[in-house]
Amino acid sequence: MKRTHAYSAASATAPLAHFTLDRRDPLPNDVQIEILYCGVCHSDIHQARNEWQNTIYPCVPGHEIVGRVTAVGSHVTKFKVGDTAAVGCMVDSCRICPSCAAGNEQLCDQFPIFTYNGPDKHSGGVTYGGYSDAIVVDEAFVLRVPENLDLAATAPLLCAGITTYSPLRQWGVKAGQKVGIVGLGGLGHMGLKFAHAFGAHTVLFTTSPGKAEDAKRLGADEVVLSKNADEMNAHASSFDFILDAVSADHDINAYLNLLKADGAVVLVGAPEKPLAVAAFPLLMKRRRLAGSLIGGIAETQEMLDFCGEHNITSDIEMIPIQKINEAYDRVLKSDVKYRFVIDMASLKG
Ligand code: NAP
Ligand code: ZN
Ligand code: ZN
Repeated sequence: MKRTHAYSAASATAPLAHFTLDRRDPLPNDVQIEILYCGVCHSDIHQARNEWQNTIYPCVPGHEIVGRVTAVGSHVTKFKVGDTAAVGCMVDSCRICPSCAAGNEQLCDQFPIFTYNGPDKHSGGVTYGGYSDAIVVDEAFVLRVPENLDLAATAPLLCAGITTYSPLRQWGVKAGQKVGIVGLGGLGHMGLKFAHAFGAHTVLFTTSPGKAEDAKRLGADEVVLSKNADEMNAHASSFDFILDAVSADHDINAYLNLLKADGAVVLVGAPEKPLAVAAFPLLMKRRRLAGSLIGGIAETQEMLDFCGEHNITSDIEMIPIQKINEAYDRVLKSDVKYRFVIDMASLKG
């Protein structure tokens, strides 16, 4: 067992605070990782505050993990001590259902084992995430980091990166298409970078006028203030694809109306409350509304390799873990540019 320092939420209303836990000794297929950096995803906040009504306490969030390998089990072939390694939202899955067999572990029929708040089949308890100084994960769920990328700015790729890369790829976004990204937060800023890299004409929808300049720097060809009805109407029935990365309640019908015939709005945002969907915006023009959850392990490696080739990372604000509660408050005010990353050295101090 390895004594591990962490930050956890003790209840839905408690601020995160120091916590210790034990990580298992590496089993034959396990990689033990010293965590260097962990991104702060809005899902961490939804989960810590029980907004999805399934949180088990104490809860140690964090699923955008980059670190260094400190030990490997006897059967491990992909990693050796000293390598950099990364872990995203999943640490295991059934591995035999049709979804797992197809490389879509995130869609596992038995439910993927999430990096935190999942059933830990080794301890019999719950999984604890990356707001901690070490983690032990089966090598099948550990990713390789391209050598040219900054490690701290790579951490958010493990969730915000794959969650936006995957739907843009699955829906075949490419040059010649008009693509919208809704919400300029952690996911949204990666969505802009990928849509731009895939060659699409990319439009950011935001509620924050102050983010327009950044959006253009990040890859937007146009910026639309979603609260301005005239600006929205000017884009009616013109989009091939819109990725909705909003964390709170909002009017989804306004975006359905911007799709051309057979266009799709894909939800990646996971607001606490159900969204109200009107029938007519869908019926008219045979529009589609779908959802997408992170991406599979092979696709996550493909995304990281793509980022290595195109020199893509996140725009981050680094924080010591002691500032995590302030960071949560700022994320809730849409005041993050554009992902907080915890420097885990602060946990040792
Ligand atoms: P984030 O950094 O907080 O960004 C969310 C953005 O949504 C904000 O920056 C803001 O952008 C916009 N927004 C916030 N409140 C709004 C409101 N009331 N009305 C309209 N727009 C609003 O969050 P994130 O980490 O990117 O995560 C976004 C959502 O995706 C969360 O719900 C998270 O749980 C979910 N998520 C899903 C997956 C998946 O696999 N599907 C993976 C990771 C995260 P503007 O200031 O530009 O308006
Ligand atoms: Zn996440
Ligand atoms: Zn499965």
